[in-house]
Amino acid sequence: MIDLHTHTNESDGTYTPFELVDAALAAGLDALAISDHDTLAGYDRALPRAREKGLDLECGIELSTKFRGRTVHLLGYFLHQPPADGFRHWLAEMQATRRDRNLRLAERLRSLGMDVTIEEVEKKGRSLTGRPHFAKVMLEKGYVSTIQEAFDEYLDESAKGYVDRQEPDLTLGIQRIAAAGGISSIAHPIRLGYRDPDKMRSLVSEMRDAGLSAIEVYHSDHRPADVEQYLGLAREFNLGVNGGSDFHGDVKPGVRLGSGAGGNLDIPKSVLERLREIQPRPT
Ligand code: AMP
Ligand code: FE
Ligand code: FE
Ligand code: ZN
Repeated sequence: MIDLHTHTNESDGTYTPFELVDAALAAGLDALAISDHDTLAGYDRALPRAREKGLDLECGIELSTKFRGRTVHLLGYFLHQPPADGFRHWLAEMQATRRDRNLRLAERLRSLGMDVTIEEVEKKGRSLTGRPHFAKVMLEKGYVSTIQEAFDEYLDESAKGYVDRQEPDLTLGIQRIAAAGGISSIAHPIRLGYRDPDKMRSLVSEMRDAGLSAIEVYHSDHRPADVEQYLGLAREFNLGVNGGSDFHGDVKPGVRLGSGAGGNLDIPKSVLERLREIQPRPT
């Protein structure tokens, strides 16, 4: 079993990179990719531990991008070489737009009557501060009674506290990943919200034209029928097949490393082997 979509506490997970490596070994995983949001710090920190313990650790990233006015999560994998330096610089720029969003989000929550400061939220994060860290502060201060309520009431894209963030276009994300020697994969396609299979199909077709390499077929949120649909799209558009649990640790207690939600995942090693055969597509 492998897991190619996980988060450490360098982004919005709760496990340290060391703990995640140890948990992967305890779960008997053959390979683990760390795919933190906008930072490679979790992977960098985990690497010595993985080497020492003999775990196949892969370098990944998850970027928030814009496509047709919506936020689309894009995974990048560097399976042959570490990402080029320019890519790390570009990530630093992404982090600056995130900080700007966070400042505005704190202001917005204050205007909604909550005493939430950027300083206390940033203390919860390490390399990166995200909405889950805001949710934690709101929970601790008693403004909400669960993390999920913080999202539903305030932080979700459709909720009253939401503030937009300047996100790169999906095409640019794909290009940056390819230029850095990586392959790109659309993350949890179920969350794109396209229920109509024909719409989904044309969307994936456009993404393929933009240079996309793979699609995350296996994910904790995907039901068997979804997996079938995405496998069909991968075949039709000659895209690689990718998969992972989207493990975040204790903030998403229903999702287990490797085995996903309620044991809905058992991704074979061959998925990674096939991804390794994909060459980055210069766009
Ligand atoms: P950010 O990158 O700071 O905008 O935060 C995005 C993260 O917040 C995602 O990766 C999820 O972990 C979490 N998140 C976003 N929307 C929701 C939601 N509706 N419910 C629970 N968690 C969410
Ligand atoms: Fe996340
Ligand atoms: Fe995501
Ligand atoms: Zn994720």
